[in-house]
Amino acid sequence: MIYSMILVALFGAVMAGAQGMAPRCADDARRLTAAITADSLLAGTLARFVDHYPRRLSGSAMLEASLDDIIARLRQDGWNVRTQPVMVPHWERGEESLTMASPVTRRLPMLGLGGSIGTGGRPLRAAVLVVQSFAELERRATEARGRIVVFNVPFTTYGETVQIRSRGAIAAAKAGAVASLVRSVGPYGIQTPHTGGMAYDSAVARIPHAAITMEDAMMLQRFQDRGEAVELELVMNGQWFAEAPSRNVVIELPGTELPQEVVVMGGHIDSWDVGQGAMDDAGGCFAAWRALHAMRALGMKPRRTIRVVFWTNEENGLRGGLAYAEQTAMEKHVLAIESDEGTFAPRGFQTNAKGALFATLKEIGSLLAPINASAVVEGGGGADISPLEKKGVPVMSLQVDGSRYFWYHHTDGDTFDKLDAKELNHCAVALAVMSWCAANLP
Ligand SMILES: [Zn+2]
Repeated sequence: MIYSMILVALFGAVMAGAQGMAPRCADDARRLTAAITADSLLAGTLARFVDHYPRRLSGSAMLEASLDDIIARLRQDGWNVRTQPVMVPHWERGEESLTMASPVTRRLPMLGLGGSIGTGGRPLRAAVLVVQSFAELERRATEARGRIVVFNVPFTTYGETVQIRSRGAIAAAKAGAVASLVRSVGPYGIQTPHTGGMAYDSAVARIPHAAITMEDAMMLQRFQDRGEAVELELVMNGQWFAEAPSRNVVIELPGTELPQEVVVMGGHIDSWDVGQGAMDDAGGCFAAWRALHAMRALGMKPRRTIRVVFWTNEENGLRGGLAYAEQTAMEKHVLAIESDEGTFAPRGFQTNAKGALFATLKEIGSLLAPINASAVVEGGGGADISPLEKKGVPVMSLQVDGSRYFWYHHTDGDTFDKLDAKELNHCAVALAVMSWCAANLP
């Protein structure tokens, strides 16, 4: 109650551009903003990291080498780095290809979906049935038997369209298909297939499941609509290996008064085995690192502990997030913040916080008006902090201009050049101000 009064006063002060009852947070926000926006430390660090360590899929030597590098560099920089051991799934796609065999011959870009089985060591050749929804597949189930089903489903929202990727193999196998292909989950393409997670159901056969480009999905639709039968030849060699050891990487500024109370923030350091995983999600990890780095460089000591985590295995297992929640069960998390929606121009935050806490976070958000990131709205957190959320921890997610994120998400196009140094800095500012002020609430 008292802090909400202080924050109301603070809000008034900020709006008036004057020093109010809580000048510390507003002053600190200005100092953090100035420090982080002054240089290209974040962009330079992120670029070097993703250039050296692209394709950090769980179970890969690349992911573990990237973690070794992060740990070594953080230690060199004086951080007391902790790691949290966690076993992660290990799947590799192997060699794969898709060829249109009839009525014209052409290689089609494709990416197997994470966890898919292969085609049994030989090319799988079959006629095609294109459908535009699960409902159409059900209506035409008799035509799907023995065929490769192509789901040509246009992108609406990620949450809705991703259902086709997640459950397409199950639906196609139920109808007797021998393989399934999905139109990549994204609103725009330049012949770029998007990979991602998928599911099987033990009640139906496992069939190979891959993504093709949106352009080719539309082309196959046109062939079908003209009454021209299409045959495709699919080669996939996806394989599971034994679970592999990995780690979450943790650094923090210990709280001076309430060290056992924690504000945690970060992103996931693993990625798919394509592109550089720059926006998904090395950018989120390093923006959080940059935020904490700025606090330390400014000699700022928080009341509560502010912690940065590089979570492992978000993309195909969530083992890092689960291990973090388990291994910190004795601590009190007052807030968990994730950045995993790209690192473009920040707009603010979503949060599941209610009542007084929501009002407080909204007031803190107002301090981000100088970088146009003051919107704090109701919503959820992120995957890595969902195990904390289940335990009742309030969660937040950094919100950015998402207009281009799903052009690149899970593709070879997720590379550093798509990001902007100033926007990256602003993401770090938003994380710094939110975590700092939340950790210093009375
Ligand atoms: Zn991600």
